[in-house]
Amino acid sequence: MPKGVCVLTPRLREIRARNARYAFESTRERHIERIKTLHAQGRKLDGTPILGPDSQKLRAKQLRQNERRKTKEWKASHPRHRTVIQALAHRLRSAIRSCLKKNDWGTHRLPFRPVELREHINRKLDERNHRCPMCGTPIERFHIDHRVPISSAKTAEELIGLFALSNLDVLCPTCNMSKHAKLVSY
Ligand SMILES: [Zn+2]
Repeated sequence: MPKGVCVLTPRLREIRARNARYAFESTRERHIERIKTLHAQGRKLDGTPILGPDSQKLRAKQLRQNERRKTKEWKASHPRHRTVIQALAHRLRSAIRSCLKKNDWGTHRLPFRPVELREHINRKLDERNHRCPMCGTPIERFHIDHRVPISSAKTAEELIGLFALSNLDVLCPTCNMSKHAKLVSY
């Protein structure tokens, strides 16, 4: 007989099966006893009190309200684009970032080719001697500014029109962020 292989005789197998059955039945009986005792004390298996139909409903209601409150809070902290124009503006701005990162993602929406924007930016930087046209500080990092702010667009056509190269310029981040939606001549 090969080493390590255990072969039970029919008698031994019978004994083992019987022992297993006894163990199972006694465990089951003890388990049922325990549940009965706990139920008599008005408690569940984990020791928490058994809720009546009314308190179950109340608990479910509380859970629902909790979920609704959480959803509300999440929505408040993650504002959505409210209008179609705002959503389009968001896409066009990401497309501009794609042009600069040279990944060209979504750039088909823009009224120019990515390479044209890059050339335009370099030309503007050279014209201004790499200085911000508003404050005059040397530009290390720049923001692309819309001379006529995009918030003034009422339709999608107008909005795309404001993304024309002639409306795009470079400003230092500080000036661009302080400019907001104002129309500033520089
Ligand atoms: Zn500046």
